[in-house]
Amino acid sequence: MSDFATLRQSVRNFVEEQVKPVIGAYETREETPWALVDQMRALGLFGMLIPPEWGGLGLSLREYATLMGEIERGCGSFRSMLSIQNSLVGLTLLAHGSEDQKRRYLVPAAKGEILVSFGLSEPDAGSNPAEMTTSAARVDGGWRLNGRKMWIGNAARAGVMLIFARSGAGSERRGPEITAFLVEPGPGVRTEVMTGKMGLRAALPSHIDLEDVFVPDASVLGPVGGGLRIALYSLDHGRLSAAVAGCAVCDVALELSLVYAQSRRQFGKPVAQHQLVQELLTDIHVDAQAVRGLLERAIVLKESGQPFSEAAATAKLFASEAANRCAYRAVQVHGGRGYLEETGLPRLVRDARVLTIYEGTSQIMKLVLGRHLTGLSAF
Ligand SMILES: Cc1cc2nc3c(=O)[nH]c(=O)nc-3n(C[C@H](O)[C@H](O)[C@H](O)COP(=O)(O)OP(=O)(O)OC[C@H]3O[C@@H](n4cnc5c(N)ncnc54)[C@H](O)[C@@H]3O)c2cc1C
Repeated sequence: MSDFATLRQSVRNFVEEQVKPVIGAYETREETPWALVDQMRALGLFGMLIPPEWGGLGLSLREYATLMGEIERGCGSFRSMLSIQNSLVGLTLLAHGSEDQKRRYLVPAAKGEILVSFGLSEPDAGSNPAEMTTSAARVDGGWRLNGRKMWIGNAARAGVMLIFARSGAGSERRGPEITAFLVEPGPGVRTEVMTGKMGLRAALPSHIDLEDVFVPDASVLGPVGGGLRIALYSLDHGRLSAAVAGCAVCDVALELSLVYAQSRRQFGKPVAQHQLVQELLTDIHVDAQAVRGLLERAIVLKESGQPFSEAAATAKLFASEAANRCAYRAVQVHGGRGYLEETGLPRLVRDARVLTIYEGTSQIMKLVLGRHLTGLSAF
């Protein structure tokens, strides 16, 4: 077996033997199983995409997608955590961080020694980050941040948070000036885990309150005023992770449905032999194959260094909607049993739901693609 095949098998074993048997109980209590997070760290999963010289495994995007798919099969919360670590923040630090920032944050993040967060959304600014009110005022030697972020994954345990804030008025045409800051927990930073979530119940989305938080100039990521461009760079990669998750949800929906439909008998034959059940199964199959094709296209473009924003948005839009359709169909194939936690289907439904919302909602993906096709912005 190649090194990667061995790693994939280790991740699959981890999911089957360690995650699946216990994750339901943690999710019921909305807790994160930290001992399992330690095991993901030991497997190197926090730095899959980061080159070895910066503490990671240096895997290709395709290899990363494969492993993230394996993780999603057992726990969407973990896949989400790893997506923030590897792509939303990890790749962003790799592309935009100074040598010093990479040493201080990328290396420990890739090794899993610290968790990291991507802090764009706010209570009153989601689909349109330009409406953010978190502010950064210039002071001697750095910046003073004030504001409130919402939904920020990993934040309650993060060693560093990538925080986007308004650093200037900007212009009417280009919108406010937004800058990216690397903020460590400390004086003025307060986090609070959000509870009562529909899905991703073992994840840690948090509120972050920033009150007169001093951030030195050395912790500005990229150029002052370049924050929105950096956020969009990050989101392109985050959208690929969401598409990977959608792909895994469709696959699981098909696998579980095929097994069940062939063993469950009604009207004297397996339900798989009823035409309308076959329709459900083939609809899942077609969605799963279409998602895989769109994902592959985005990966090929990205890996060959070509623009891939459109491909990532297309894959994300289709995969996230398909995942919801397929999880729903899988419950239907299982009849009443699909309603029981023991089948794993309620979690599949719950974890799929967020995919059409975060990293840009389906509506926003359509506007992104509409602008790409027409050259006209309908935002
Ligand atoms: C579990 C979870 C984890 C998250 N993790 C993070 C994270 O780690 N970091 C982070 O920064 N954010 C995170 N988010 C926030 C997420 O990115 C936002 O929820 C998302 O961008 C949508 O913003 P909103 O919730 O404010 O919805 P809104 O922007 O208020 O949208 C409400 C509805 O209006 C629609 N809408 C808005 N504008 C338009 C328009 N112009 N045209 C048509 N329809 C429109 C939307 O599609 C949606 O249906 C997370 C969210 C969730 C649920």
